[in-house]
Amino acid sequence: MSPNVPYLDESQRTQAALRGASVLYTDLDGTLVARGGNVLADAAGEPSLVTAEAIVAVNRAGLDVVPISGRNRLQLRELTQLLGWHTYIAEAGAITVRGTGLTAEVALDTGEWPDGLLAQGITPFDAITMSGGYEALEAAFPGRIEQFAPWQLVREVTLLLRGCLNLAEAQTVLDTVHPRMDIVDNGPVRSYGTLTCRDMDPHAYHVVPRGVSKARAIELDLAHRGLSRKDAVAIGDSATDIEMASAVGAMVLVDNAFDSPGVLARLQQASPGLLLRTRAKRNEGWAEFARAWVAARAL
Ligand SMILES: [Mg+2]
Repeated sequence: MSPNVPYLDESQRTQAALRGASVLYTDLDGTLVARGGNVLADAAGEPSLVTAEAIVAVNRAGLDVVPISGRNRLQLRELTQLLGWHTYIAEAGAITVRGTGLTAEVALDTGEWPDGLLAQGITPFDAITMSGGYEALEAAFPGRIEQFAPWQLVREVTLLLRGCLNLAEAQTVLDTVHPRMDIVDNGPVRSYGTLTCRDMDPHAYHVVPRGVSKARAIELDLAHRGLSRKDAVAIGDSATDIEMASAVGAMVLVDNAFDSPGVLARLQQASPGLLLRTRAKRNEGWAEFARAWVAARAL
């Protein structure tokens, strides 16, 4: 069944939403970059300028693009600088960095954690690692959860895991430890690693301080800019990305999002905001969106 999300070029609401937006919050993997993390390729991974040309058009129009991803701060800094952008949001909404140089301003979000929860010299990542939450998940779901090597290293806030979990059940297990944490599904990944489950695709998960999310990070960033929801759009490919719709004027899903059972299940629930879809997949979908955005802004 195809969920009723209109294409960009058929919705009467597209023009107004894109015309009003000066900032784009973009997911990376499965959205801006092709398979293998390549931006100089088409959706199938063959060498192509399709996305690069769209990025140049957006930059030329003076529009602001903010990568928002589960990747860590160092990974995002390099990509953001390389593409000519300035602000990025790392670790699933937990870290916002404004600037790519030595004077960059870094804001860590620990959600609902009270001030003073972290002892001197202890990062949110340390607190989550020492909480016993991961060990509790491992004990409750043997063979179904592991650290997502090597990407779980060099992190400051979130614990990055790979597994085959029922998210509600996993949350119940996490709720038995302190401090309060949420487990967030960052969508399917390609390899099972050492997992033994085969009854579902492996997914990447983030364990985050309770309340931390991509949507909250966007709300905080827009407030910092003195902008409102209608000044922004977002684009992504996962069930988690759909939650960004609550923080922006329009949430665009690249076409490959609709291959994901998690996305289809999420679309059966109430929409957090205006959803639109591209006709092309992955980074070709991103380029399709970018062309529509630049055109709407030029009207
Ligand atoms: Mg993605």
